[in-house]
Amino acid sequence: MNETVREILAFVEENDIKFIRLAFCDSFGMQKNISIMPDELERAFQHGISFDASAIRGFMGVERSDLFLQPDPGTLSILPWRPMQGRVARFFCNIRYPDGRPFEGDGRFILKNAVQRCADMGYTCRIGAECEFYLFQLNEDGEPVLVPHDKGGYFDISPLDKGENVRREICLTLEEMGLRPESSHHEQGPGQNEIDFHYGDACTAADDLITFKSVVKAISLRNGLFASFLPKPFADQSGSGLHINISLSRDGENLFQNLEEEGSVAASFIAGVLDRAAEITAFLNPLTNSYARFGAFEAPRFIAWSRMNRAQLVRIPATSSGEHSRMEVRSPDPACNPYLAYTLLLEAGMEGIAQGKQLGPAMDFDPYAPGARVEGLPKLPATLEEALALAGGSEFVRRVLPQTVVDKYLEFKSAQAHRVAQAEDRAAMERELYFL
Ligand code: GLN
Ligand code: MG
Ligand code: MG
Ligand code: MG
Repeated sequence: MNETVREILAFVEENDIKFIRLAFCDSFGMQKNISIMPDELERAFQHGISFDASAIRGFMGVERSDLFLQPDPGTLSILPWRPMQGRVARFFCNIRYPDGRPFEGDGRFILKNAVQRCADMGYTCRIGAECEFYLFQLNEDGEPVLVPHDKGGYFDISPLDKGENVRREICLTLEEMGLRPESSHHEQGPGQNEIDFHYGDACTAADDLITFKSVVKAISLRNGLFASFLPKPFADQSGSGLHINISLSRDGENLFQNLEEEGSVAASFIAGVLDRAAEITAFLNPLTNSYARFGAFEAPRFIAWSRMNRAQLVRIPATSSGEHSRMEVRSPDPACNPYLAYTLLLEAGMEGIAQGKQLGPAMDFDPYAPGARVEGLPKLPATLEEALALAGGSEFVRRVLPQTVVDKYLEFKSAQAHRVAQAEDRAAMERELYFL
């Protein structure tokens, strides 16, 4: 038994931990877990705990369905909303074949490989996500209804803002779990909220987003509310985005500081992301409902960048200077699988650097203003079907993600898109499928 495992077993014993959740995500970013008792933990570290991978969306067929979960020791967290006696801890896991080889469909494995390629080129990447969500009321059966928790708007305070106590509890819980919440506020839509937490390396950032979503869900439910990450719950109100802030450094120097320099690495990185934006959108915006968000309430439609304008796909935030220099990708939404989304964004940026791609001029005007000259500007796909077709035909997507992951993803998403298209009441079908 190695030292880390010994320490963890001692920690489990000393902290009255009785249940250990082994967590991972399916190919669509849904968290899954199995709970084991402390006596099984050593075996989990040594051999892994097996599960039926054919029952996990996007993983494997029944022919070869055994995979193993091996806890990643650095990801231990206690779940503060579970009982204080006989506590519950959670690990994110690496997924392996019975012979110990890593499973190529494991999102964490895919992302860690991308991070390694980035490191091989000499770069370190940091990612910080801003996640928006709606709070809905529950009916007497405890089921969510499409009635928002309040009528507040952007930055409102109580009594218009009824979310303050829930956000407070979410922030305190995140802190207990070792995440660093930075700010929280009421967003533009009724019942819409946003909480931002500290950036990290790409894989930690993706793990943290998964943790964040589970905290938001659990704490909201404890307060008699349903938290939804559906990208566009109301056609005429603000959608929920997942803005992804990315910075890049080499030898400890943040390269986005030098964006203005002729032929800068940061400019090539942005150019790389913009170049691949359309073909990776099916992974950044995975639901039919995602496409209703684009083009309104500061969600992008055009593939362009700007320093000021919040309607563009990539923005360089004004507060971004010195060590905080970064780009903000504004198209993704919180329904995405962050492991795949971050992989694709990183690889697109890296390709931009490797090929010395040139960044075009900034689009500092409002593309939605009457008379705005937007002819010829490239656009994001307008529907999930269009996005899936672009992803399916993309040599880039097939180069960056394993073949089986791409094929299963596209197949499952096409079937979902088809179901929504066939539905008599599209919005009702979207809620049934995605009110997550
Ligand atoms: N809700 C917007 C989006 O969909 C963002 C608006 C904002 O953050 N002020 O991306
Ligand atoms: Mg924000
Ligand atoms: Mg916001
Ligand atoms: Mg933002």
